[in-house]
Amino acid sequence: MIDLRSDTFTLPTPGMLEAMMKAPVGDDVFGEDPSVNLLEQRMASLFNTEAALYCPTGTMSNQIGIKAHTQPGDEVICEQSAHVYIYEGGGIAFNSGAQVRTLEGDHGRIRAEQVATAINPDDVHKARTSLVCLENTSNRGGGSCYDLEEIRRIREVCDQHRLLLHLDGARLFNALVAKQQAASDYGHLFNSISVCLNKGMGCPIGSVLMGSKDFIRRARRIRKVLGGGMRQAGYMAAAGLYALDNHIGRLAEDHNHAQLIGAALMQTDYVESLLPVSTNIVIAKIKAPWKPAQITELLKAKQILALPVSPTQIRMVLHLGITPEMAAITVDTIRNLKLDDL
Ligand SMILES: *Cc1c(COP(=O)(O)O)cnc(C)c1O
Repeated sequence: MIDLRSDTFTLPTPGMLEAMMKAPVGDDVFGEDPSVNLLEQRMASLFNTEAALYCPTGTMSNQIGIKAHTQPGDEVICEQSAHVYIYEGGGIAFNSGAQVRTLEGDHGRIRAEQVATAINPDDVHKARTSLVCLENTSNRGGGSCYDLEEIRRIREVCDQHRLLLHLDGARLFNALVAKQQAASDYGHLFNSISVCLNKGMGCPIGSVLMGSKDFIRRARRIRKVLGGGMRQAGYMAAAGLYALDNHIGRLAEDHNHAQLIGAALMQTDYVESLLPVSTNIVIAKIKAPWKPAQITELLKAKQILALPVSPTQIRMVLHLGITPEMAAITVDTIRNLKLDDL
């Protein structure tokens, strides 16, 4: 099977497994796991933040960030398809008692002017706007990425209104590679950054939350409260260290495969349109009367797994489990799919 449903289906490579087996470990709740400590130091220095915290999932690191930045009754601004809003089980309300103001963005990206107009005035009738969340790359936006210039403008609006700014950077490494941006430019633009290691970076588990020392000290307490204080987590952190050394540069290959697959989909009878392909995600709108599930069933019969992600769309995500040969087979299969079998 060629599994393109998500980049969360990646399995550790032999090299990664070996690094995990050899990892020096300790009790991380006591701060004594050398592999976790090293991963946190390396991520903080890479992204130019004071400190970092290793978390079990990206959902937890986002939720910790939001909890640390808000009070119950506050309002959080984000794009309407943001993961923190639609895919985290209502966590903003559940964990932080905050409410959400959504904006309609351009493929998941919001602009500084939109943020400015969504901030509530200082008025007892209104929720206190305290936090803005961006997502880079945008998952539902089809892997779109922000220009640093727009992020800088949003940061200025946040500074003018004393708002904090969190980045859901689940696939931030994809954005850095695609936009040729420096990780070190991100630290001073955000109050917190969450980066997933369990997506295209190929780790079985793990995300890293970054920010100031004071923020990370508070985040560490919240992680414990949420049940995310892990003991010998160094076996997992070692996978993250291995990924930092070996899996960033190769993301360009995934982006290249995504372009090839996107181009092939566009030439078929069953695809109406495609979200712009900028990183490793391809989202295609299926032409009526065909339904996404019918197309994914036909692909499955040819050993290719894609995911219906809405009543009209299918998604394919490239990752380190997909070799150039597998990408070529996918392109071929897409081109030769026989719809009269329906
Ligand atoms: C995957 C993802 C997350 C976190 O997911 P976990 O499965 O909890 O690690 C957060 N934000 C975005 C945009 C994602 O795609």
